Amino acid sequence: MMRMLIMGPPGCGKGTQAERLSRRLGMTGVSTGEVFRDHVKNRTPLGREVSVHLDAGDLVPDTLTNRVVRDRLNQDDVRAGFLLDGYPRNTAQLAELDIILAANGQELDVALQLTVDDPELVRRLLHRATMTGRSDDTEDVIRHRLELYHHETEPVAAAYSRRGILLSVDGMGSEDEIFGRLLAALRAAFPAAIPDTTTAG
Ligand code: AMP
Repeated sequence: MMRMLIMGPPGCGKGTQAERLSRRLGMTGVSTGEVFRDHVKNRTPLGREVSVHLDAGDLVPDTLTNRVVRDRLNQDDVRAGFLLDGYPRNTAQLAELDIILAANGQELDVALQLTVDDPELVRRLLHRATMTGRSDDTEDVIRHRLELYHHETEPVAAAYSRRGILLSVDGMGSEDEIFGRLLAALRAAFPAAIPDTTTAG
């Protein structure tokens, strides 16, 4: 079992791919965006605190985000491994993740990054807005989230690349094609850990 994460710009399909990967590899998925959206939906105190940030497409303050991740990664079902989706989003969160894992004698095995060009992302997100009604899928907010990704999150990918644990995968194409590429990249890097079955599912 591995400790891995998936990152990529808003609209790159990482949520969908993260779900498929965790199902296929039998790993527990942890999505910070999902956790926050659930709290907002259930009107919890945390939900009330974070909704303004989600609606504006801003990052939730690190203190709140780090606490959510620390609590989640200390639960029993992720002791053996996990697939983190949407965290870390900046270099301060990256440092915090190292600390959280080191406290349990653990470290990250691999960071997957999906790459998609900006015009395609805006197109996909505007389309998603008509389907899901997510409050952060309006054009201004979409452009803001993209800017944040370039300025705050790309340095995280660069740091993992320097560590030699970044696997960058082309996120242009169909959902099945991208899933196939992710599995192939993982299998090439970790032949023993990734079962060599078909790419369905
Ligand atoms: P996502 O589902 O990953 O696109 O996240 C949706 C929203 O949740 C983001 O636009 C942020 O407002 C918030 N969020 C998710 N993950 C993080 C994080 N690691 N740090 C700060 N805010 C986050």
